[in-house]
Amino acid sequence: MSDDAVALFQAIGLSEQKAKETAANKKLSPNLVLVIKEGGAETGVEKSVGALYYNLASTVTKNAVAHLPYLARAVRDARLTTNDQVSAAIKFAEAAKGDIDDGEFDAACGVGIVVTQQEIVETVTKFIEERREELEQKRYQMLGSLISGLRQTPELRWASSVAVKEEIDKQVLQILGPKDERDDPKAKKKAEKKDVKAPAAATKEKQAKTETAAAASKEGRVAEAAKSLKYVFEGELARLHKPGGNPQIHPKLMEEHLKRTGGKVVTRFPPEPNGFLHIGHAKAININFGYALAHEGITNLRYDDTNPEAEEEKYFVSILETIKWLGFEPSAITYSSDHFQRLYDLAVELIKRDKAYVCHCTGEEIHAMREANPRIECAHRSRPVDESVREFVKMKEGRYGEGEAILRMKMDMQNPNPQFWDLVAYRVMFTPHHRTGNAWCVYPTYDYTHCLCDSFEDITHSLCTVEFQLSRESYYWLVDALELYKPVQWEYGRLNITNTVLSKRKITKLVDEGIVGGWDDPRLYTLPGLRRRGFPATAINAFVRELGVTTSNTVIPVERLENYVRDHLNDVAPRLMVLLEPLKITLTNLSDDYLEEVTVANKPRDESMGSHTVPFSKTVYIDASDFREQDDPNFYRLAPGKSVGLLNVPFPITANKVVKDSSGRIVEILATYENSKADFKKPKTYIHWVGESKKHNSPVKVQVNLYSNLFKHSNPADNPDGWLADINPDSLSVIPEAYAEIGIRGARIEDSFQFVRVGYFSVDPDSDVKKGRYVVNRTVGLKEDAKKN
Ligand code: ATP
Ligand code: MG
Repeated sequence: MSDDAVALFQAIGLSEQKAKETAANKKLSPNLVLVIKEGGAETGVEKSVGALYYNLASTVTKNAVAHLPYLARAVRDARLTTNDQVSAAIKFAEAAKGDIDDGEFDAACGVGIVVTQQEIVETVTKFIEERREELEQKRYQMLGSLISGLRQTPELRWASSVAVKEEIDKQVLQILGPKDERDDPKAKKKAEKKDVKAPAAATKEKQAKTETAAAASKEGRVAEAAKSLKYVFEGELARLHKPGGNPQIHPKLMEEHLKRTGGKVVTRFPPEPNGFLHIGHAKAININFGYALAHEGITNLRYDDTNPEAEEEKYFVSILETIKWLGFEPSAITYSSDHFQRLYDLAVELIKRDKAYVCHCTGEEIHAMREANPRIECAHRSRPVDESVREFVKMKEGRYGEGEAILRMKMDMQNPNPQFWDLVAYRVMFTPHHRTGNAWCVYPTYDYTHCLCDSFEDITHSLCTVEFQLSRESYYWLVDALELYKPVQWEYGRLNITNTVLSKRKITKLVDEGIVGGWDDPRLYTLPGLRRRGFPATAINAFVRELGVTTSNTVIPVERLENYVRDHLNDVAPRLMVLLEPLKITLTNLSDDYLEEVTVANKPRDESMGSHTVPFSKTVYIDASDFREQDDPNFYRLAPGKSVGLLNVPFPITANKVVKDSSGRIVEILATYENSKADFKKPKTYIHWVGESKKHNSPVKVQVNLYSNLFKHSNPADNPDGWLADINPDSLSVIPEAYAEIGIRGARIEDSFQFVRVGYFSVDPDSDVKKGRYVVNRTVGLKEDAKKN
């Protein structure tokens, strides 16, 4: 049975190994056998159809499995031709009662529907036209609702979501022009309330002044960046060549390149869209964009999307958003996959130049031949050029399974640099690609793609991290072999931070295992995580810039980054009084309806930040840590018989009596408000507090998330049991009901505040600000050691 199954699975295009693995899979194997037999595919079938059968058998659910034969026939009859349709079909089958009705099935699965680019353009145009007025008013804020609205239009149900998104972006750009200060919520806030300023308004204003006003226009941004671009003219970056200064295999190539670029600096930031960006990428972004900005050049964002297995839409979206959040605007957005055809054609050309060959060795064989002394060239290396061309075409046509054939560059097996040991240029992969769908089943490798895309884009400085040093020569080898324009590669050191991990593989693991809440968990040093935690983009940029650029990899203590954050927030964050552990004080000498409106500066000694009022009444709360039942001469806050000042309240209070519950826990302090002049002595210390007032709906109860390092060791890998065992179990502690003063009202997601005497906090996206329900994240403590408390 098992051998039969293996043969069947190979008939639909699985490699021998994959077929064996599948046959051993007790759940998948019988389903796949059934699907293949029902689909009449026992004697072979096109790879793309084979991939659909495989997808069907591997994703069918328990409730749909009764209809598997029907679904298989639908694939056979080419009614289902995409994975999207297969998943719709499975959903439909789950809900089907009794036999499936062909008509209903076809309608639910988009059978026979082909959405052309023309139709996408028309539908998007119509949809946007109907909402044009609203769009002009709300501008880019409306983008999200346009995208989700259009996704739901029946006309576009079966259209490529990437194509739809691109069309929306294009049209919105045409109507609105590029984003400007109107699209910046921080700058916009300026126009609002001037006099009495809610702290929330003050934060917006201040931040707008320091960071986003400059970012609002292109010129402003360049000017702002230029001021702080010192790092570009120091260290490694000061040594880079001028455009035109890099020799070419033919001088003509340089002449043509300079004609195309006008002699400008052209850089690119080339992330692989297989994860969110992290703090290390902030360095790469500042280097690439900063270098170009400082030389009045341009920077492309290039999605290096040649590995369809790990890439997902959400990563594409987040990467661009993060770059913009840091304050940079790509000159163009490119995709390595845009060049698949050209890359393929060049691979054929490379074979014809006798500089590449199709090889059928297994991974182990290749490894062994590279390890041998002297290194061994495999038998396929010397096969005739024509034969390799034919074999490569067969690979592209899907006539080889995964791992059965690869294209290798014919380099120099005896060169001491391992990057010359006949690197792989193409491999077979039956995985649909995010942008090109099922068009390709051969995908180019990083080594083959990266330098060629740099060349196509006329990159002048290909800036990358030091682990690519050995790749520099193979990079040059390939562009020269094809006689193309040759950029220059320069390497710089990677940035790492203590007590965390940055590798996408490791972060994926933390996310998948539920150790953190997601890629934007505030404990991670991903940029969306740091943003959520409240780290300002300006502080992150300042941090990476001031580290400077050298060729050594560095591990920077996390505290150093936090210092930048603290410095920046100290300037811009309004102050609020919030009690993490509230303790009730009853001022027994005040009447039940006593109410004073106390004026509080949004930031002491900075009048431009304005002020607001908070209620003071018979019942106030202080933080439990500011009261001690056992007094001590060195303790200057509240204790029985002692007085303390409440910030901004005219007179001090004196504690008289401690009230405890049956378990002995302190639940209330009875105290007096010293508002009769005769008794008044200026207190040594003032503490923060929150007054109770029904009228003001005070205190405001908020959830506070306190974070500390996610890993115990400064290098988590130093844990003898491995990095994953190094997780700090107390990295998050949640206070479900802290008491905040009413000044927090009006705060929006991502606003930053200083909670007086506690630390800096930022409003988490989990808040429901409209309903006044706040979740706040501790960004950093007030002092370096504060977070250790
Ligand atoms: P990871 O190892 O975390 O998966 P990566 O290097 O694979 O990261 P890419 O998406 O390929 O991530 O990186 C895009 C660019 O950012 C590359 O030029 C890479 O060299 C650079 N980069 C990645 N990590 C760092 C880092 N820690 N410090 C500086 N630059 C980095
Ligand atoms: Mg990489």
